[in-house]
Amino acid sequence: MVAADSDLKGFPGQSIPNPKPCLSFWQRTTRAYPLLNANREATVPDTCEYIIIGSGIAGALTAYQLVESGVKGDDIVVLEAREAAGGASSRNAGHVRPDAFRGFTHYARLHGPEQARKIVANERVVLERVDEFVKKNNVQCDFNLTTTFDVCLSKEFAELEAASFEAYKNAGGDVSHVRFYSGDEAKEKTGISQAFAAYEWPAGSSHPAKLAQWLLSEIVAQGVGLFTHCPALSVENVAQPDDVVSSSNLWKVSTPRGSVTAPRVIHCTNAHLGFLLPRLAKHVLPNRAQAHALTPSPAFSAEKALTNTFSLRYGLTHFYSLIQRKGDGTMILGSSRSNPALGDEPTRPNVDDSFYSEKVMNDALRQFHEVFPEYSQDGNVHGEGFQHAWTGIVAMTPDHVPFVGEVPSLPGQYICAGFNAHGMARIFTCAPGVVKLILGGKWEETGLPECFQLTTERLKKFSDS
Ligand SMILES: Cc1cc2nc3c(=O)[nH]c(=O)nc-3n(C[C@H](O)[C@H](O)[C@H](O)COP(=O)(O)OP(=O)(O)OC[C@H]3O[C@@H](n4cnc5c(N)ncnc54)[C@H](O)[C@@H]3O)c2cc1C
Repeated sequence: MVAADSDLKGFPGQSIPNPKPCLSFWQRTTRAYPLLNANREATVPDTCEYIIIGSGIAGALTAYQLVESGVKGDDIVVLEAREAAGGASSRNAGHVRPDAFRGFTHYARLHGPEQARKIVANERVVLERVDEFVKKNNVQCDFNLTTTFDVCLSKEFAELEAASFEAYKNAGGDVSHVRFYSGDEAKEKTGISQAFAAYEWPAGSSHPAKLAQWLLSEIVAQGVGLFTHCPALSVENVAQPDDVVSSSNLWKVSTPRGSVTAPRVIHCTNAHLGFLLPRLAKHVLPNRAQAHALTPSPAFSAEKALTNTFSLRYGLTHFYSLIQRKGDGTMILGSSRSNPALGDEPTRPNVDDSFYSEKVMNDALRQFHEVFPEYSQDGNVHGEGFQHAWTGIVAMTPDHVPFVGEVPSLPGQYICAGFNAHGMARIFTCAPGVVKLILGGKWEETGLPECFQLTTERLKKFSDS
């Protein structure tokens, strides 16, 4: 199956990643990573057993899990259109922040209460997995396990949040790890005078590029071939050399540096899924998201540095995320894709992460100063304050959950993508899940919510709606 030009009109995800994206804070602080441009001139091998397309955390962890499961590193090729982990995994806001209950009512409308409960519970498992993984392997990715505050900055949102909390609890969801504060207690706990209510639960932050790079270094050390600046341009079915009637397929992936053939191809291409799988293009909407780095003023330095992370919420889709890194103290302020004050600009389908929006930046900084007036009370000295802004592309699916599994009617091709801007809270169960399926396991063995599975019925629902 070749992604022919005629198929590629009209859907923004049907492109390879822009070869000249801007650099994020995370990328600017890891420019000496030795594998950044691994094999950038090399020709790809003719054959292998597994081709993974995409070297973000999804692709890197999929390769890592294959090797952990006994696959020889030499049998795996990872193709990356940009520098190593050059997509969203190195451009996000650094939060490893599970949903604790908030999304429940929304997911329940889309998938029913049982699946909704599993979707929320899965994110908590991811936090535990990341924490365990980082500790067990001593991964130097600045992972900081702490608690996070969901701060309700409007009365309407406080009501919505309360309703979701009750609904999740009533559906059997575990909320024993969530603390609730209202009125003055919420203001006091969060330090935010506009807070109507706040919820607190365990979450973490990390340097996401360092996490992806650690995974890539490990797999390369095990023999995996990582080819950067090497976009996969098409995936074609080729007959098995001596077995024309076989039901198993062989897939040829073409790149500008030769073609590589394998019985299994795993698409970890995030919002660019539709380029190689045009049938899915309408179901993976690429959205641009933006984040900002700030150097703390004295009000947020030394003993006054924030030790919790935040989601500062005006509504379900209008919010700002905030973490403060240990050590260098850099504050990372993320903007939600949607914001009533900015019209539809941030949510329009978009694959261009070569620049940032000043409108989005000005809005984020204005809100930040409003919520934390003490930040600039003494006036900033040169070197404090706004440092850098960047963008990245997130993959939104119509039913707000990822695509995991074998592609219907393309045996041997798998997907692990579509994380709806929540990859850090999803990939650490989804990638091990897809590896179980690739190695012959059943869906039940993945432990994932059933609604994550890519099935003909699921795709049909999108086409019908
Ligand atoms: C500004 C921003 C803030 C965010 N904040 C958070 C957050 O705080 N917490 C959170 O959980 N999530 C956050 N996200 C989302 C999170 O970053 C993603 O869900 C996650 O990184 C997705 O990982 P991935 O491996 O699927 O995708 P990516 O990291 O994008 O990896 C896909 C890779 O595939 C490559 N590729 C695509 N097409 C091809 C092709 N044809 N050939 C070869 N290579 C190809 C791309 O170049 C890319 O490197 C944020 C995202 C952005 C942009």
